[in-house]
Amino acid sequence: MPRYEFRCRECTTTFEVDRPMAAASDPAACPQGHGDTVKLLSTVSLGGRAGGRAGAGPAMAPMGGGGGCCGGACGCG
Ligand SMILES: [Zn+2]
Repeated sequence: MPRYEFRCRECTTTFEVDRPMAAASDPAACPQGHGDTVKLLSTVSLGGRAGGRAGAGPAMAPMGGGGGCCGGACGCG
């Protein structure tokens, strides 16, 4: 269910409401009982949680293996 964020214009409390899309434009009452609220459109998130990222980044290249001057051949290490 989509989550909508509202802000009360009387006490500036920000609160979230889970409601179906069909009721997205319905007014939401402030938890403090105020009725003068506005819906914040920028924070609608489907699925209840935003930012979930699947998968991981590419594996780090294994360290070691030599190469360059410090590979052991020149004895600088
Ligand atoms: Zn309020």
